[in-house]
Amino acid sequence: MKKHNFSAGPAILPDEVFKKASQAVLNFNNLNLSLLEISHRSKDFVEVMERARSLALEHLGLKGKGYHALYLQGGASMQFVMVAYNLLNNKATYLNTGTWSSNAIKEAKKFGDVAVVATSESNGFNFIPKGYAIPSDADYFHCTSNNTIYGTQMRQFPESPIPIVCDMSSDIFSRALDFSKFDLIYAGAQKNMGPAGTTLVIIKEELLGKVSRQIPSILDYSIHIKKDSMFNTPSVFAVYVSMLNLEWLKEQGGISAIEKKNDEKAELLYNEIDRNSIFEAYVPEKEDRSLMNVTFNIKNEQLKALFETEANAAGISGIKGHRSVGGYRASIYNAMPIESVKVLVDVMKHTEQKA
Ligand SMILES: *Cc1c(COP(=O)(O)O)cnc(C)c1O
Repeated sequence: MKKHNFSAGPAILPDEVFKKASQAVLNFNNLNLSLLEISHRSKDFVEVMERARSLALEHLGLKGKGYHALYLQGGASMQFVMVAYNLLNNKATYLNTGTWSSNAIKEAKKFGDVAVVATSESNGFNFIPKGYAIPSDADYFHCTSNNTIYGTQMRQFPESPIPIVCDMSSDIFSRALDFSKFDLIYAGAQKNMGPAGTTLVIIKEELLGKVSRQIPSILDYSIHIKKDSMFNTPSVFAVYVSMLNLEWLKEQGGISAIEKKNDEKAELLYNEIDRNSIFEAYVPEKEDRSLMNVTFNIKNEQLKALFETEANAAGISGIKGHRSVGGYRASIYNAMPIESVKVLVDVMKHTEQKA
């Protein structure tokens, strides 16, 4: 039987998506050729790229609003560099809510001044800072919507006098937001969108052309836009599977429908963590808790073995916390069925009874 996969990333995708993807590897579009052996310039693949780009904008409500969707390589980590390379002239502002924000800050500093408007580092990144001001003299404000490692998530986004850039790697397509508030959104596919190997970038064209430095072509957003995300060979498989997943999301009723399910799953799990006497949530403040990555600890270290044995026996996989935080992390992305969350909750109850 298939495991209940709570991995943080690469992560769960719907079974139907896996089935269609494996079929395309054998015989794509009845061409009697594999998806993996045809030209990325062929009509069949160009259609995949265009559909994947179009579906992303459609889901986010950004069609016809001056945005472009790109599928690039190098992961979200490459975006830490590309954002600064393309947008940072003098100064940028960053909100530091975890490891990924810190890495983005580190890269941006190589291109200019970086002001960190607020940080939650002193508390092990277990909350989302609020009430900071964004200076109007910076080129952009950068934030991370969901902190995959610590399990915090931004509910509100600040009013910003300057463009907002957001790393949405681990919660893109999971909840409804006014995405037109953002000027650039990026997301590594392997959390909530597809397999590892491609990164979605949603960008407003008017943001570009304002830095004075030379930009290498492969790192230049305007070149990727001009070439319709085909400047060089794209990750054909990752883009195809992302497209299948965005089609699946559409069949589910889109972001607002999946958001309801995501809310239910998170509520079920957090309620159990708060109720259960042997566990505690890593993030104390309810409004800062991530609906995608649920982090928690076991209070008594001696019960770890019991819990893990029970979890294993129930077919649960991937709940070990990130090595920098420890404890447990259950990632409950769009493709995670509530039935799997119920299995985890039952294991937690069972462990409490046996303890
Ligand atoms: C996983 C993750 C990253 C890093 O992604 P790579 O694709 O491995 O570079 C960056 N930001 C967030 C929020 C993530 O969850």
